[in-house]
Amino acid sequence: MNIQKIIEILKDIDLSMNTNKLYLSELDTAIGDGDHGHNMTNGFNKVYEDLENNDYSDIGELFKKVGMILVSNIGGASGPLYGTAFMQAGTSMMSKENVDINDFAIILENSVKGIKLRGHAELGDKTIIDVLEPAYESVKTGIEKNDDYQDILRNMIAVSEKQLEYTKTIAAKKGRASYLGERSIGHQDPGATSCYIILKTITDAVFY
Ligand code: ADP
Ligand code: MG
Repeated sequence: MNIQKIIEILKDIDLSMNTNKLYLSELDTAIGDGDHGHNMTNGFNKVYEDLENNDYSDIGELFKKVGMILVSNIGGASGPLYGTAFMQAGTSMMSKENVDINDFAIILENSVKGIKLRGHAELGDKTIIDVLEPAYESVKTGIEKNDDYQDILRNMIAVSEKQLEYTKTIAAKKGRASYLGERSIGHQDPGATSCYIILKTITDAVFY
């Protein structure tokens, strides 16, 4: 996959955020302050604008720029978290013009590291990590088993869907939702949902 395709996918993610803006904010209304869809849309709209106005030939530089835009334009906890994820991913993709499934695993691994570094969440805290880390693990396992990249991506989405459902069953231990404690049980986590939507958008773009 070349950098042009990645730019297209980033624009697709902006479209997905706009499409799911109200849904994500509704999820956040139940256990937070109701702005997650608005935050994500604001951030990725700015990314879209930047991509329309600038040329990129280095995937690392591209991701770093996306990360900086997200950090400075998304209000709320999710801006610095997603921003750091892209910046960390960028560091591992410097001087690259193409990526394959192995690079995708590295991108996911560094995104997980970035988000954990910034937010200190662990698996089971009802956050982005509950989707992103198992998604990464499934891709890693698929590569180790020599699976076809299409099977790896299909499996990653299946795992992410299952994990998203799992966020309904647990209490939040990080972020605003943690103020609710046990009362956050029964609600799907907004950040885990936006993370799932991003992974689904990437996968759809690879298949269609
Ligand atoms: P805010 O909570 O500041 O309003 P958002 O509504 O944009 O920010 O984002 C909320 C989401 O951020 C949560 O649903 C959760 O998934 C994620 N989140 C919050 N804190 C953390 C953290 N420490 N690590 C990972 N994700 C987190
Ligand atoms: Mg919020």
